[in-house]
Amino acid sequence: MPPTQDASIAADPAPAPGKVLRCGECGASIVLGAYRSAVCPYCASPSVVERPAAPDLPNPVFALPFTVSKDRAVADVGRWQRRMRLFHRSFSKATIDEIKGVYLPAYLYSSVVESRYQARIGENYTETETYTTTENGKTVTRTRTVTRTEWRDLAGEHAAYATDLVVTASRGLPNAELEHIEPFDLRALRRYDPALVSGWLVEEPSLRLDECTKMARVEAQRQEGERLSAFMPGDKFMDLSFSMTVRDESIDPILVPVWVLAVRPDPAQPAVRVVANGQTAEVWGPEKVSAGKIILFIVAIVAFIAVLALIATHGRAP
Ligand SMILES: [Zn+2]
Repeated sequence: MPPTQDASIAADPAPAPGKVLRCGECGASIVLGAYRSAVCPYCASPSVVERPAAPDLPNPVFALPFTVSKDRAVADVGRWQRRMRLFHRSFSKATIDEIKGVYLPAYLYSSVVESRYQARIGENYTETETYTTTENGKTVTRTRTVTRTEWRDLAGEHAAYATDLVVTASRGLPNAELEHIEPFDLRALRRYDPALVSGWLVEEPSLRLDECTKMARVEAQRQEGERLSAFMPGDKFMDLSFSMTVRDESIDPILVPVWVLAVRPDPAQPAVRVVANGQTAEVWGPEKVSAGKIILFIVAIVAFIAVLALIATHGRAP
């Protein structure tokens, strides 16, 4: 056997299976690599318990390596934080440094979708019509061009490929949040190798395959709806509906790189979380602030105006 091969095997020993922690709050399963974290990276909950590694979990087939460094992630999340300063004072500079790089378990889904659709298609045409109006006190007849729409029914069949949809396999990071920082450039996918992820936090899939397949089909259906909308002829359409079937489905477990910053200013409240794509640095955080905070903000403004009005009234009083 050539010595080079022996050397490479010796240089890359398979890492001993790390400790697996299960978050008591969000249900994420974190494999501790070099980290000795005792809080969940997704929800900042300290209620993590050690559990033995599940033997029947699928191994990732591919992994997408991190290309965004921690410094870059801290800088980008910092910019987001400065924009959102008013409502997210909990993200101080110190906490941004606690951002964690996680290899998020996900599934890569592809299938052929076939749909039967129906819709009402509108074609515009112009018509000249005469009308009467009053000008300088006289009734006159004028003509004008009006646009009208003729509607007809359309039904048909449409087939397409749903390729490379990525859905989360983590209970810690919902699919809606992952979608905010997609897409990933999947051309950089590499065959999974434990050495690729060593030193990072890695999560095992904590959602079942059937749950993830269902999510992927929902995403495939949404995409097909967009394709059909773009495909409709005519000037406008309405009442588009379709039924869809899928075949030749493939769904492979993969790991995608995500930077996560979860902080919990109040232990009784859910964590506030900012995520960044570990490949493109796209940042997303909860820009929709809670109704309570908006109400407090409005109450504060109203109170301020009331005080000003009170001062003004008193100023005028004899
Ligand atoms: Zn958690």
